[in-house]
Amino acid sequence: MTNESWGCIRENLIERVGRNNYVNWIEPLEFARLEDGVATFHVPTVFMGDWVSRNFGDHILAHLNSAGEPVSRIAFSVPANGRPPMRAPARSPAPQTPTQPAAELAGASLDQRYTFDTFVVGKPNELAHAAARRVAEGETVTFNPLFLYGGVGLGKTHLMHAIAWELQARQPELRVVYLSAEQFMYRFVQALRDKQMMDFKQLFRSVDVLMVDDVQFIAGKDSTQEEFFHTFNALVDQNKQIVLSADRAPVEIEGLENRIVSRLQSGLVVDLHPTNYELRLGILQQKVEQYSDQFRDIELADGVLEFLAHRISTNVRVLEGALMRLFAFGSLVGREITLEQTQDCLADILRHTDRKITVEEIQRKVSDHYNIRLSDLIGPKRVRTYARPRQIAMYLAKQLTTRSLPEIGRRFGGRDHTTVIHGVRRIEDLKSKDSQIAEDLELLRRSLEA
Ligand code: ADP
Ligand code: MG
Repeated sequence: MTNESWGCIRENLIERVGRNNYVNWIEPLEFARLEDGVATFHVPTVFMGDWVSRNFGDHILAHLNSAGEPVSRIAFSVPANGRPPMRAPARSPAPQTPTQPAAELAGASLDQRYTFDTFVVGKPNELAHAAARRVAEGETVTFNPLFLYGGVGLGKTHLMHAIAWELQARQPELRVVYLSAEQFMYRFVQALRDKQMMDFKQLFRSVDVLMVDDVQFIAGKDSTQEEFFHTFNALVDQNKQIVLSADRAPVEIEGLENRIVSRLQSGLVVDLHPTNYELRLGILQQKVEQYSDQFRDIELADGVLEFLAHRISTNVRVLEGALMRLFAFGSLVGREITLEQTQDCLADILRHTDRKITVEEIQRKVSDHYNIRLSDLIGPKRVRTYARPRQIAMYLAKQLTTRSLPEIGRRFGGRDHTTVIHGVRRIEDLKSKDSQIAEDLELLRRSLEA
């Protein structure tokens, strides 16, 4: 066998191991020699050899044999002089010293504004906040991982940064690494390409606290997921704290392996609920306070903050943006900003945020309320535990959205519109007889319209 013939044989492995694995693990293998039935491949690191051997060894052997090569075993070796020099991890700005804030180490830098001091706590986020506080004390690892999830702009990133700041303030020697799942993948791919997997692994396995933001990003990215899983397990085994965030619950992330989902659920999973009016107003007041130095001369007329809190209800980021724009406007006109000016100045934002409730939101709320899975709410099962909440969700969809009955049916697992009619009628009927159902409906409606 030659390196060329290996080149042909290995192509056949693409189908077997998938393109990702192929590019990451098989392609970098260099055939070295065949002696006494042992085929030896050069690999950049010992780790990589182990990995390939454990995960793909059998496949490689089988393919070599079916190509007629007299191989009974495969082996890996790291060529003494062929090894690329060890490099600092990609994009790391400066050589690391133990005292350097470790959040810089492998991740993104932290936003100074995202601390616990500036985080406004309200009903929708109090659990997430309490859990984050607990982790930030850094005393004992009580739940691992802490998994924070919730819609866009509800404060997940803010809380994670706050944890990192707090930990660093309390224990400067701690290696706290914060990064997005996207950055994790980027670094992983780069490490593979540069044959720096050993460094990559060492880096991520030597941290004290690992925080990965927006992990939904790695769903469906097989080799990154795999690596993430191993990093995760290695750290949990060492009793190191892990904090993760995503835009939805672990079970709802499509394309995430089951074993990963169950590990993610083995810690504490808390969600940040959509903001309510009080929280939004609190956040606005806090921001006004926070920026009061910068915008000293600006006055907002009575009712402006209340108006914003009422009208911009989806996303705190948008809310903040609106306030910033008002400030910018105010510093131009140099006098108190009236409610009318507010409406003019923010016309485009306000138009966009005219609140539209979606069927998906209703489904989520209802499944949360009844403590059942979204998939069961939408799915085919007909038992009462699912069927009743399903009818309630259909009823609310009819009441609160402009969707037609067939459209609603489609969003409930492709059901017929007659099924929707039946469900809606059933709930209309029950509403007057069953006070529990009437109460549930009222509660759900209010929370959806909040
Ligand atoms: P996510 O990561 O959940 O998408 P972020 O953490 O980026 O959301 O929050 C978006 C913006 O809203 C940030 O500027 C953040 O400071 C602000 N924000 C969100 N929730 C709160 C809160 N409870 N108190 C103060 N600011 C908040
Ligand atoms: Mg975020």
